[in-house]
Amino acid sequence: MIGSDPTRAPRRLATQRHIGLLGGTFDPIHVGHVIAAQRVAEAESLRQVWFVVANDPWQKSSCRTITPAPIRLEMVRKTCDASRAAGLPLDASEVELQAGGPSYTADTVRRLRGDHPDCRFSVIVGSDAAAGLGTWHDAEWLRHHVEFLVVARPGLPGTAPAGFRVREVECPLVQISSTDIRRRVRDHLPVRHLIPPAVSGLIAAHRLYVAPSP
Ligand code: ATP
Ligand code: MG
Repeated sequence: MIGSDPTRAPRRLATQRHIGLLGGTFDPIHVGHVIAAQRVAEAESLRQVWFVVANDPWQKSSCRTITPAPIRLEMVRKTCDASRAAGLPLDASEVELQAGGPSYTADTVRRLRGDHPDCRFSVIVGSDAAAGLGTWHDAEWLRHHVEFLVVARPGLPGTAPAGFRVREVECPLVQISSTDIRRRVRDHLPVRHLIPPAVSGLIAAHRLYVAPSP
């Protein structure tokens, strides 16, 4: 699992590893996230995609109850472990849990750049998230310092505001969302085709999503 390692030597290599950061609440992580990450990695020749689990997704936590961050991280970590065993270059990052407090992508990118000078980071977002980039914390810094790789989401079209460095990446449209999975669990509908196997086990063990979120 990837965290911020302050003991890492600050050595800049001539050839940086290109890493995609896919940040999210992952409540829960689902097959749509995995397919998007894998396809962007292939299309952009990324060395890896790191799933960055939000500690406090501040734009959501005022609207609904969020599953505790350590449980969401565990779901992502187990998914990445199984994906790597199947040859996918995916890993989990706990950098935002280590930082604590509200999770801001600008802070995360700055922190990861400091911790991993041998890496070059691009941020992967779905089209719905791209449309909201102007509302993100420190949006002006993001606009000037970060490249975004955007994947389309069916039913959730969106375009990044002017000025952001954005590249659209061809990806199969996968109509799966965590919102729909939470609703299906609450309504006792099957979800196993939408989430990695380890995630179903954790949802059952922690009795997640059984009650309607306030
Ligand atoms: P929720 O419905 O609770 O918002 P979500 O399915 O959108 O959950 P998030 O954790 O909010 O999942 O998403 C993290 C990132 O992954 C966002 O950039 C989002 O746009 C992207 N994403 C989520 N689902 C898909 C999908 N099916 N295809 C492509 N990108 C996706
Ligand atoms: Mg979302």
